[in-house]
Amino acid sequence: MSDKIPIIATGRVSEHAKKTLDIVKRFVEERCIPADPVFSAQIDQGGADRWDHHPSVIDDLKTEAKKLGLWNMFLAKGHYKESPGFTNLEYGLMAEQLGKSRTASEAVNCAAPDTGNMEVLAKYGNEAQKKQWLQPLLDGHIRSAFLMTEPDVASSDATNIQLGMKKDGNDWILNGQKWWSSGAGDPRCKIYIVMGKSDPGNKDPYKQQSVILVPADTPGIKIERMLSVYGYDDAPHGHGHISFKNVRVPASNMVLGPGRGFEIIQGRLGPGRIHHAMRTIGAAEKALDWMLMRINDPKKTPFGKQLKEHGVILEWVAKSRIEIDAARLVVLNAAIKIDELGAKGALKEIAEAKVLVPQMALTVIDRAVQSFGGAGVCQDTPLANMWAQIRTLRLADGPDEVHLQQMGKNENKRGQEVTANILKQAETTKQMFAKYNVSLAHIGPKSKL
Ligand SMILES: Cc1cc2nc3c(=O)[nH]c(=O)nc-3n(C[C@H](O)[C@H](O)[C@H](O)COP(=O)(O)OP(=O)(O)OC[C@H]3O[C@@H](n4cnc5c(N)ncnc54)[C@H](O)[C@@H]3O)c2cc1C
Repeated sequence: MSDKIPIIATGRVSEHAKKTLDIVKRFVEERCIPADPVFSAQIDQGGADRWDHHPSVIDDLKTEAKKLGLWNMFLAKGHYKESPGFTNLEYGLMAEQLGKSRTASEAVNCAAPDTGNMEVLAKYGNEAQKKQWLQPLLDGHIRSAFLMTEPDVASSDATNIQLGMKKDGNDWILNGQKWWSSGAGDPRCKIYIVMGKSDPGNKDPYKQQSVILVPADTPGIKIERMLSVYGYDDAPHGHGHISFKNVRVPASNMVLGPGRGFEIIQGRLGPGRIHHAMRTIGAAEKALDWMLMRINDPKKTPFGKQLKEHGVILEWVAKSRIEIDAARLVVLNAAIKIDELGAKGALKEIAEAKVLVPQMALTVIDRAVQSFGGAGVCQDTPLANMWAQIRTLRLADGPDEVHLQQMGKNENKRGQEVTANILKQAETTKQMFAKYNVSLAHIGPKSKL
């Protein structure tokens, strides 16, 4: 694998990272991918209540991963003192491998939403908060959820968030509802990172929100129901719809301080989007592998030929190859930018990857599904589940349209300047027409030329 590092990454990947990348690849191929169906079967053994246990195969994979030195690779070097020493680029290459398996990310303690939540605690938590919550997360002993989205408001605009936070002595009292709280169904989920409105009267709409740490077993919290994703329940972690009724939380659980919520959510989302994007590249590669297997099946010969002999199918393969390779470059470019300039300096590149990669992967997976016929949409391949998972990435961490609107606005800042430049060039062209005595007759009065 490390001999196949994309050219954009050559010279930027340390020898240690190359070796680790090889170990990640072998661990995913030989241990995690074969364990994926075992994981699903163990959840099914939970019967009616799939939420009160987690598959033991994960614990065994975690033990193996730790022994191999594969743990918390997402915490980037130079940004977190807890980092095992890899750059975003190096981890990006590893995340692509992790994206090929359902169990791999959790096995190496690099699974969302814990990754983003650990980053929040490492970056913004005080020493007491880190000791109580970050350490057990880093050790993989507990899991966590991030609660921002609410059922009653358009949450892609975070100024709309309503969950009430009222100060009462040394406590904050929380009232409201959250949904799409990923991870909340897992019995190991012990901590919620909750965004609410602590100062609704503040004139600055970006200073009204705060983020507070809420132990999952605090009285007044109720998981109303678990939400499905295209019919999948995503057990054991799932997505909760949770109500808060007079939930009392000590003021010492506030992160950074009242009114700093926006700052925290913005800091949380940067590198996390790249992690999703890199895993998604891996998922697209896996879909292409499955498609290749199907089109080479000698027993399936519609209209007297194997699928690989039908021209359109090879075109799907070729297009998929082009699209995956192009998208990978976009993600690695973003990872390099984060390494060099920090997440703030790489906003454009992160948004490009966040929007492009899921759309690319959905196209590739859809082709693979189509090549399988009916088998492609049922449980006999991983493709149907992969499609459902990746489709949600066009919504999670903000819908495509929000990122595109911001990117469009930024791109359009050049509007005046490029117009002036084009008009200036046209003026020069006209002067040249005169100099060379070429007829202007074919150019209408409205032409910019
Ligand atoms: C599987 C999954 C997991 C999730 N996990 C979490 C989690 O762990 N924690 C959490 O807090 N949230 C989570 N979310 C929620 C997710 O972040 C939100 O669904 C998303 O931000 C959109 O918010 P909304 O659902 O309130 O939709 P709305 O804000 O109501 O938006 C609806 C639609 O309006 C359109 N739209 C919005 N803004 C614009 C615009 N500027 N221009 C044009 N169109 C626009 C978009 O098409 C958008 O999809 C998850 C969602 C899913 C599906």
